[in-house]
Amino acid sequence: MGLRLQCTSCGSSTPASSLDLRCTGCGEPLEFHGYERAALQTGHEGERSLLRRYGSSLPVRDTFSHIYLGEGQTPLLEAPQAAGGLCGASLLFKNETVNPTWSFKDRGTVVAVADAMERGFGHVGVVSTGNMAASVAAYGARAGLRVLVIVSGRIPDFKLAPVAVYGATVVRVQADYAALYDMSLRLAPEAVRFVNSDSPSRIEGSKTIAYEVCEQMGYSAPRWVIVPTSSGGNLRGIIKGFEELKGAGLIDRLPGFVCAQAAGCAPIADAWVQGLTRVVEVEHPRTTAHAIENPRPPSGNAVLRKFGRIGGLCVSVEDEHILSAQRLMASVGVFAQPAGAVPLAAAEVMAARGLLCADDKVVCIVTGSGLKHVPMPAALPGRILDCSPRQLEGCMTEWLGVS
Ligand SMILES: *Cc1c(COP(=O)(O)O)cnc(C)c1O
Ligand SMILES: [Zn+2]
Repeated sequence: MGLRLQCTSCGSSTPASSLDLRCTGCGEPLEFHGYERAALQTGHEGERSLLRRYGSSLPVRDTFSHIYLGEGQTPLLEAPQAAGGLCGASLLFKNETVNPTWSFKDRGTVVAVADAMERGFGHVGVVSTGNMAASVAAYGARAGLRVLVIVSGRIPDFKLAPVAVYGATVVRVQADYAALYDMSLRLAPEAVRFVNSDSPSRIEGSKTIAYEVCEQMGYSAPRWVIVPTSSGGNLRGIIKGFEELKGAGLIDRLPGFVCAQAAGCAPIADAWVQGLTRVVEVEHPRTTAHAIENPRPPSGNAVLRKFGRIGGLCVSVEDEHILSAQRLMASVGVFAQPAGAVPLAAAEVMAARGLLCADDKVVCIVTGSGLKHVPMPAALPGRILDCSPRQLEGCMTEWLGVS
């Protein structure tokens, strides 16, 4: 049947060439399916570039692998010194802080940007506050594309400096993240390719985390994989990766997947605990782990559906606990941002609930670096603009007009 985009909910599918980012029938996320099973060999070992290494199981071929910046191939670190609270389980950090823009987002971005180039786009856009914006701005610059970053109005300038420094245009709109995400799906889809948190090609990039973990563990699956979750895109990608490995006979069972959220914004965990099939928007999100503070996660329902089918565990952790886990990780040499420390805190909660056994291998996905707050360069090559939701389209048209 070949590669196609299939709805994660109603199952309807469209050709892989379609520009749709979500199902036109039910609105839920689309996902690539139909790779040739035999193609999944994982590591073309010697290849450094993610697109070359895993090209046969990605929706893009390696034509654009020159946009490589060093993404992926991150270490899987044993950390027994930080496993004191884990009942004898062995702790492993998949250290995504060493990616080119210091978060796992680079994996999805390299695939999404290559996908945009393959489709002939000269402009990419993203709705984001931090890590994803920096990632898209960097790869866009590398690829010679123009980048538009839409952020929600409350974001201070200093957080936008690491984005504008790559030359991206940042538009600050007085609207919340979820509303901006929805708007972005309708903004000039023929002219600007949006590569948001759970866009289908981004999910394909995230699944390479699963491929690498398996390679690094000699093709055995860990007992648990704990993922700090916001939109749900990365968790979906990691699950998809393990499922593909199992489908290809490279591992014989799936790990247990843990959706780890901050207690101050845990829409997926809350819905799961209450037995709901759809997430309910969090009214007053509040957590120090800003990278996972999404009150209406666009892949939340998709995660709930997946867990309904294969099982899963949701754990939410308090800010204080996140910060102590962050310090514990730093004490063994890994400086994560609060979101990246959420998995360790969640592992400790699991241990306290009797869910971990001695020798269980627990992989924590350390999604992003602690070293994100940098002073702003005096003169930024990119522009930072402000506008209202009604002005956004005009603002974008103007941006498209200047080159
Ligand atoms: C984006 C991000 C997450 C959340 O990933 P989702 O795919 O949105 O669930 C977690 N941690 C860090 C550091 C991030 O940048
Ligand atoms: Zn659908």
